[in-house]
Amino acid sequence: MTDSPRSGGSRTDFRPETRIVHAGHDPRDHHGAVNPPVYHASTITFPTVADLKRSYARRFDDVYYGRYGTPTTQALDAAVAELEGGRWCVSVGSGMAAVSVVLMALLKAGDHLLMVDSVYWPTRHFCDTLLAGMGVRTTYYDPLIGAGIADLIEPETRLVFTESPGSLTFETQDVRAIAEAAHAAGALVALDNTWATPILFRPFDNGVDLSIQAATKYIVGHSDAMLGTVTMTDRALFERVKLVAGQVGHAVGADEAYLGLRGLRTLSARLRQQGPAGLEVARWLQGRPEVARVLHPGLPDDPGHGLWRRDFAGVCGLFGVLLTPGPTAEAVAAMLDGMRLFRMGFSWGGYESLILDTTRSITRTATPWTHDGPSLRLHVGLEDPADLIADLEAGFARLTGADG
Ligand SMILES: *Cc1c(COP(=O)(O)O)cnc(C)c1O
Repeated sequence: MTDSPRSGGSRTDFRPETRIVHAGHDPRDHHGAVNPPVYHASTITFPTVADLKRSYARRFDDVYYGRYGTPTTQALDAAVAELEGGRWCVSVGSGMAAVSVVLMALLKAGDHLLMVDSVYWPTRHFCDTLLAGMGVRTTYYDPLIGAGIADLIEPETRLVFTESPGSLTFETQDVRAIAEAAHAAGALVALDNTWATPILFRPFDNGVDLSIQAATKYIVGHSDAMLGTVTMTDRALFERVKLVAGQVGHAVGADEAYLGLRGLRTLSARLRQQGPAGLEVARWLQGRPEVARVLHPGLPDDPGHGLWRRDFAGVCGLFGVLLTPGPTAEAVAAMLDGMRLFRMGFSWGGYESLILDTTRSITRTATPWTHDGPSLRLHVGLEDPADLIADLEAGFARLTGADG
């Protein structure tokens, strides 16, 4: 492994699970230590004027000033770039920072953005408020639109933003067909690839130009740090995103970068446990009378299952549940308040199971959302799924009042 950490993507002779162990760092660079050192640095000093000038000229790649990165963030960037199948990665302080940096780097006043209707709500909110204020128009499109996206592309459309599966509702998008149509019209394609992580979906093999990770979720994996990444294959695009990230002042903390790298090493092992465990819980839920529908592309009767089989290498532990209409908000609260294992809270991707009431949180403007019963989002952690199922079974008894 003699590649420079920034070169990325060149160890193609190893399989993803092998690369995840070694990507971004060579112990021989650091006295043989298995993990890279944590550089706490703002100022980087130079011995001569010439050295300083040389480093500034290479500021997109070099360690020049803390805001542009340190050897620790470089190791993270190189690892994520390699695992996503890209060449360049820019890490920032959160998933939303990654989303907003992409939108700000690629769009200016007068431009038009096509945004998927099932997008993470804070991304929608960013478009409707800050981006709108900067003179960028957003049109929301049906997540199932596929090649039909061509009909919505205008002369000013610069970017098509995808997220697959969608937040809360988990529609699988035909990213490949969307990318073909977008590129034919001269527009770029961004993907929020957080659900799939860098290992379950290959963004650049499917035509994506920029792949975003809310690394806060599965990459960090332990619910203890905020982190976001943007990965690209194009050098000019990388410099644009890196420049804007610096202009708006994003920098990744040394310890956050380290936690991201440490979490990354066990990502595939965690997914191999949490994905199938989530599917087991999802299948059990499908058999319950309290459940109208389970939203999970890994289930054979899910409308996105065919695309998921074509494009994805597996599932993570996050999915949605639509409850049969009837229970009151109080009944849902009784179910959730009494859970022993599923905790309530935002975010996901850690080792612990989470449950969230998503009733009336689903926002749609391109297509109607018709389910009028309560809805939940479940994240299945590393617990034994049989214990999680028992927890849910007792929860349903509270939901229906069958617990006395
Ligand atoms: C959580 C999340 C984000 C935002 O990530 P933060 O690190 O919380 O800012 C973006 N996209 C998706 C799909 C997410 O789930």
